[in-house]
Amino acid sequence: EFVDISAHLRHIAERFEMLTKDRNIDFVKNIPEHAVYVSMDKDKMTQVFDNIVSNAVKYSPDGGIISVQMFTRSQVVDIEITDQGVGIPKESQEKIFDRFYRVDKARARNLGGSGLGLAIAKELVQAHGGDITVDSEWKKGTTISVTLPYTVNEKAGVNE
Ligand code: ATP
Ligand code: MG
Repeated sequence: EFVDISAHLRHIAERFEMLTKDRNIDFVKNIPEHAVYVSMDKDKMTQVFDNIVSNAVKYSPDGGIISVQMFTRSQVVDIEITDQGVGIPKESQEKIFDRFYRVDKARARNLGGSGLGLAIAKELVQAHGGDITVDSEWKKGTTISVTLPYTVNEKAGVNE
């Protein structure tokens, strides 16, 4: 299934913006205007981005900025979701993609969730031939990056 990931990402960002109006979070979108078609399972990738953006919301202060950015390179699209939230200590960063791992159990309990979201996201992104990485600084914020391959599909006339 070819999905226009620019439009899809914009849609997800706008949906979260609406859902979190009461928290005054500023969603900054830097997403190409033009369509970029990626071969992907739309429901599964929605699950991936929903989890990443909902984490950004969950760990952000009220009034914070969340940016949703997308860049294209040849054959690859990079998507970066950045928040100004609590951040993740360096020693925990590699573990956040493990099943049931949550930084700071007490804090995590208050915020709800099972610690499965990013483990599932990683499996789904890798199943699409992509990768997911974290860059974070404790008390400063977090960036989660998703890289997905895309191919020019001449038959469908996309990505020209
Ligand atoms: P679930 O997604 O299953 O509801 P969860 O959000 O706790 O639960 P993950 O999405 O897998 O689980 O994230 C794992 C842990 O990584 C989180 O509990 C949190 O400690 C940390 N984490 C993830 N995203 C962020 C973020 N944007 N800022 C700070 N910490 C984060
Ligand atoms: Mg989560």
